Amino acid sequence: MDKVMLITGASKGIGAATARIAVQRGWTVCVNYRSDEFAARRIVEEISANGGRAFIAQGDVSREEDVLRVFETVDREYGRLDGLVNNAGILEQQTRLDQMSADRFARVFATNITGAFLCAREAVRRMSTAHGGQGGTIVNVSSAASRIGSPWEYIDYAASKGALDTLTLGLSKEVAAEGVRVNAVRPGLIYTDIHAAGGEPGRVDRLGATVPIGRGGTAEEVALSIMWLMSEDASYCTGSLLDVAGGR
Ligand code: NAD
Repeated sequence: MDKVMLITGASKGIGAATARIAVQRGWTVCVNYRSDEFAARRIVEEISANGGRAFIAQGDVSREEDVLRVFETVDREYGRLDGLVNNAGILEQQTRLDQMSADRFARVFATNITGAFLCAREAVRRMSTAHGGQGGTIVNVSSAASRIGSPWEYIDYAASKGALDTLTLGLSKEVAAEGVRVNAVRPGLIYTDIHAAGGEPGRVDRLGATVPIGRGGTAEEVALSIMWLMSEDASYCTGSLLDVAGGR
C-alpha cells in the first residue's frame, strides 16, 4: 500500500506543489484546506486525472477540534499516516511592532505554531513506535525570517517561525528513537500568494533582486526540498533546519 502524507494548507502555493510531487513519487496525499474547497478539489482532480491518489480534508489547523477531525479523516480513508508537512501559514500586512494589535499577534501564532504543534502531536500519536506506529517523517515549513527577524516588517511572523524551528529541534530529539524524523525547511522569498496580503507595491520584485542567487524561488523548488527530507535519501537527517533561500 502507498504511504500516506498529510499536507496542511495544500490548496495552493508550496503545499499544492508538494502534493503534486509527492504523488508522482508514489505517495497518497491528504490535501488539507481551510476555506478554498474549490481549489483543494481542483488539486485532487488534477492528481486523480494523472493516475495519483489524493483526498481532501477541511480544517483550520489553529482549531484543535478541526485538527482532530482532519486526522480522523486520514484514519478513516487510509488507516495509516507516514508523513506530515506542516505547511499552513499566514503572513499579515507589513506593520511595525508599535502598531501591531494583540489580536493579530495571537492569530499569526495560532496558525503558524499552535497549528503545527497540534498536527505534530496527532501525527506522533499515529507514527511513533511508542504508540504502536510504524514510524514516519514530519517536515515543518519554517522561514528564513526565523533567523533574520524581519524587523519593521513581520516581527510576529518571524517570531512564530523561530518557535517552529525550536519545536523542530526539540521534537526531533524526543521521537528520534521512536522511528519519527522531524526536520524543517526555511524558505526565503518564494513567489506565492502569501505576499498578496501585505507589503508595499513592488516589494517582492525589490527583494528578489537582493537574493544572492538573483531571484526569488518557486513553490516547486521548496517542494523538492521538502520531498528530499521526506525521502529515505534523508534517513539520517533529523532536527535539521534546511535553508532554501537562494543564499539569503
Ligand atoms: P500560500 O498563501 O500560497 O499558502 C498558504 C496556505 O496555508 C493557504 O492554502 C492557506 O489557505 C493555508 N492556511 C493558512 N492558514 C491556515 C489554517 N489556519 N488552517 C489551514 N490552512 C491554512 O503561501 P505559501 O507561500 O505557499 O506558504 C506556505 C508556507 O510557506 C507557509 O507556512 C509560509 O509561512 C511558508 N513560507 C513562505 C515563504 C514565501 O516567500 N512564500 C517564505 C518562507 C516561508
